[in-house]
Amino acid sequence: MKILVTGGAGYIGSHAVRRLVTAGFEVVVIDNLSKGHKVALPSECKLYVEDLKNQEKIYDILSIEKVDAVMHFSASIEVGESMKDPIHFYENNVRNTINLLLAMTRAGVNKIIFSSTAAVFGDPEEVPMKEDSKKAPTNVYGRTKLMMETIIKDLASVGNLNYGILRYFNAAGADDSGDIGEDHDPETHLIPLILQVPLKQRDKIFVFGRDYPTKDGTCIRDYIHVNDLADAHILVLEKILDAKVNCEYNLGSGNGYSVNEVIAMCEEVVGMPINTEEAPRRAGDAPILVADPSLLKKELGWEQKYNLRKIISSSWKWHKSHPRGYNI
Ligand code: UDP
Repeated sequence: MKILVTGGAGYIGSHAVRRLVTAGFEVVVIDNLSKGHKVALPSECKLYVEDLKNQEKIYDILSIEKVDAVMHFSASIEVGESMKDPIHFYENNVRNTINLLLAMTRAGVNKIIFSSTAAVFGDPEEVPMKEDSKKAPTNVYGRTKLMMETIIKDLASVGNLNYGILRYFNAAGADDSGDIGEDHDPETHLIPLILQVPLKQRDKIFVFGRDYPTKDGTCIRDYIHVNDLADAHILVLEKILDAKVNCEYNLGSGNGYSVNEVIAMCEEVVGMPINTEEAPRRAGDAPILVADPSLLKKELGWEQKYNLRKIISSSWKWHKSHPRGYNI
C-alpha cells in the first residue's frame, strides 16, 4: 500500500512517516520545506518539494504515484499568528486543502486522514471532551481546521471520499531514537520552551496566567506523545483502507496537567530547578482542554504508551543532543 503524506517533513508528519515505513507502507511525501526539515525524513520515502497551492502539480504527483490514501498534515499551526494574519491561514489551510481534495478527486484517490485539533472545540462546555462535544473555535487556526473538517465530511456525504479525522490535543515528545524531534521556528510550545532554560538558551519560562479556575491557577492541557499520535494514525488508516467507513476521534491521553505540573516534571527529569515568572494570560487560551480518548481505545484498541514523564524524557533527550534543532 502506498500513502501520500503532506507535511511529512514537519514535526508530527515526520514521526508518522517513520511509523508508516516501519509498518511496511510505501511513503511519498509532499512538503514545501517552509517549516519542515528534509533530514527528518527516512531514506525509504520519496520527497516531492511542492506546495499544495499548485493543484496541477499535486494532481500530477497523485497520477504518477497511484497512492491508496493521503495523510494530510501540512498546515499553518501557530494560533497567535492566525489572529494576526488570518487570510494567510485561510489560504494555506482551507484553500490548499480544497486544492488537495480536487486533485485527489481528479486522480481517483478517495481516502484521507486529516489532522485536526482540539482548537476546534474552543472553550469547552464539558471536560473531558468527546467527539461530539460542541465545536466553537475561538481563534482563526481552529476555525480553519473546523472548516476543513466540514468540507471533508460534505464530500464524504455525496460518496466521494472516506475519511478519518483525528483531533490532536497537545502533541509533545520525540522519537526514542533521538534522531527526530520538535524544531519549530519560532518555538511557542510549552515543553520545548521550558527545556530551553536548562539548555541555557533562556533565563526563565513565563507562566501565562496564574488566575485560571484550575487547581493551581494555571492552564491544564492533555499532553500526548507524538509516537502515540502516529500509532493512532496507522490504526485509523488501516480502518479506512479496510472498509468504506468514516470516523473521527479525539486524540489525547485523557489526563490533564497544569503548566506548574509540567514545569515540576521537567525539573525532575532534567534534575535542576527551572526559573519561572508570572506573565499575563495569553489571548485565546482555554483554562482546561482534556480529551476523552475512550472511543479510539474501544473501537481501535489504541493505548497510550508514553506518560508525561516519558514524554518529557524523550523531549529532553532530543533537545540535549540537538540544542539548535536540525542544525544540531
Ligand atoms: N504556556 C506558558 N508559557 C509559555 C508557553 C505556553 O505558560 O511560554 C502555556 C499556555 O498558556 C498553555 C500551555 O502552556 O496553557 C500549553 O501551551 P502550548 O502553546 O504548548 O499549547 P496549546 O495548548 O496552546 O496548543
